[in-house]
Amino acid sequence: MAKLIITIAPTGSIPTKKNNPNVPISPDEIIQTGILCEKAGASIIHIHARNPVDETASTDFQIFKKIFQGLSRETNLIIQISTGGRAGMEYEKRSERLSLKPEMASLTTGSVNFPSSVYANSPDLICALTKDMKTYGIKPEIEIFDVSMIQNALDLADQGLMSRPLHFDFVMGLKGAIPATIENLVHLKNSIPREATWTVAGIGAYQLPMCIRAIAMGGQARARLEDCIHYRKGELASNEQLVKRIVQASNMMSRKIATPDEARKILGLV
Ligand code: ZN
Repeated sequence: MAKLIITIAPTGSIPTKKNNPNVPISPDEIIQTGILCEKAGASIIHIHARNPVDETASTDFQIFKKIFQGLSRETNLIIQISTGGRAGMEYEKRSERLSLKPEMASLTTGSVNFPSSVYANSPDLICALTKDMKTYGIKPEIEIFDVSMIQNALDLADQGLMSRPLHFDFVMGLKGAIPATIENLVHLKNSIPREATWTVAGIGAYQLPMCIRAIAMGGQARARLEDCIHYRKGELASNEQLVKRIVQASNMMSRKIATPDEARKILGLV
């Protein structure tokens, strides 16, 4: 089986230090987390920016730039910038950070209800972000919250707006999105092209079981305080700890871990 690519999503838009003091908020903390997680076995880092004062999600280009430059300088990680809309839904704000030309960026190809809000991604907005990624030579990580979003992505690829092989992230177990079951994971995997790569982001308590299933099925894995702040019930996690646990699980299944450069080859980035 191909080596395992581990993505670390250390911050996200929601958890604060009050929820878990290990959530990195400032650019320096995020860069330090990247260094530790690379050493532990991660090869991709998925980043969000936060306001330094109140820790809320931020669209501030300068904060993204500081994180991006620091991680580029201090690590060999593949940097994946989020274009998620929790910090602000406007296209201009979500697109601006792509001008940093990270190797990857997240792209959600449809709309979904979050537990208390609508995550709106209109066809025009998806198309505009996809075109920007193509212009800057960025590989999208296609965020799939429901099955229909796969077809939307395939349509964009058919129009020549995305290069194949595609890379998908199945976001499972969020209230309002596809439930985190083995049956659904098999269906999602069977709905993408054979040559595509894929990973799973199980939300909350689903993180570990979905990771283990993905490792066994030939997919990739994500460790993330972004949407799971616990190591196990009642015990807070650190990002590094979550990466180490995935390495352990993969070793148990005799699947080796990809370095960032090996991940670049698997994903067709080089
Ligand atoms: Zn994210």
